[in-house]
Amino acid sequence: MKLVPTILPKYQLVPDFSLTLLFDKFRFYRLLAGNPDRNNAEGIYIRLVYSDERQEYCLQAVNYYRKQIFPYHVNDYHPFYVYYDSNYNFIRLRYDSGHHYAKVLTETGTIILTLCFPWHGYKIGKRFLALPYKTSFLNLNDDTLRSWWLQAGKPQFKLRTKFVDPWHEGLAMQGAVKGNFRDEVHCPLCNAVELLDTMELEDTIFRVCLECQNGHRFTAIYDAMSMNIMSLKDH
Ligand SMILES: [Zn+2]
Repeated sequence: MKLVPTILPKYQLVPDFSLTLLFDKFRFYRLLAGNPDRNNAEGIYIRLVYSDERQEYCLQAVNYYRKQIFPYHVNDYHPFYVYYDSNYNFIRLRYDSGHHYAKVLTETGTIILTLCFPWHGYKIGKRFLALPYKTSFLNLNDDTLRSWWLQAGKPQFKLRTKFVDPWHEGLAMQGAVKGNFRDEVHCPLCNAVELLDTMELEDTIFRVCLECQNGHRFTAIYDAMSMNIMSLKDH
């Protein structure tokens, strides 16, 4: 089988980088959330991506738990992306503030990032009652990403399009359509943006039937090989 690409061809993966990129800038805390279990492959997975066009790096980090307790589901993923200029100066942070909504921060000093129970979203600067977050930092390699995307059943990793493109414009949307890490699709009839949840997986094609906010039914298809997401009108 051909391997599913994990990044858009116009970006480069940076093979070696120092974790001081993170540790110089962030302090990690947790509020009622448990520490991840390294023996169960839980932890913060990271990789560094470079965009020639933008002259920016993006450190993609995703906190992985085997399960979330409420509402219960297996495989729980909460990303934060840290952007740097070509000299590794911090530019901005985009983080999952809960339910995969993307908030942005452009703070100059140290950032306190607190992982909160029960949905494992992040809050900034929240130290009250919080405990230091002890985690392993693991290499987010292609094999790991493919195993998350292509696992049997209904994969809970619904952050594919924004993973292959950490500069995806949907991450930065403001107003009524807030920035989001989730995959998104446009209704083929009215163009309304709908956010995707779990999708059925067949081979390397993800599929889900949806109804847009204006009551139009359609099918969203994500092809993990071409990395294209499309919407088809239902008959
Ligand atoms: Zn519609």
